[in-house]
Amino acid sequence: MIDIKNYNKDNVFGKILRKEIPSDPVYETEEVYAFKDINPQAPIHVVIIPKKEYCSFDDFSRSSGEKTILAMIRSIAIIADELKLKKGYRIISNIGDFGGQEVPHFHIHILGGKRLGRIIAP
Ligand code: 5GP
Repeated sequence: MIDIKNYNKDNVFGKILRKEIPSDPVYETEEVYAFKDINPQAPIHVVIIPKKEYCSFDDFSRSSGEKTILAMIRSIAIIADELKLKKGYRIISNIGDFGGQEVPHFHIHILGGKRLGRIIAP
């Protein structure tokens, strides 16, 4: 069971941040890092993570400071512009087991490059 309240440093995005494993960068600031998803679910699939340690959007929403919240939210449109997602895109953040979260470091998915339909299939 994934722990959405207590951060575990031994997760793949923590390792990416520490450069212990490689990633394909899209955008980076002092606060956030965005990189291509290794198993894309759409023609464009990027993951945005804060550099600070939050295990889920729930944890981030409760605990994060305003600077990091602003940086994460602002990064979405900046990245969408860089990726030329002019026709629209989808953001997703899975939370916990029932939300389908696999990696316990808070992240926002940006998906686009085609018409995605109304919902993601279970
Ligand atoms: P979640 O299900 O937690 O919302 O999404 C985790 C995402 O991380 C998945 O879309 C998965 O493909 C991606 N992922 C897992 N391991 C790696 C990795 O080592 N590198 C990259 N770039 N993405 C990964």
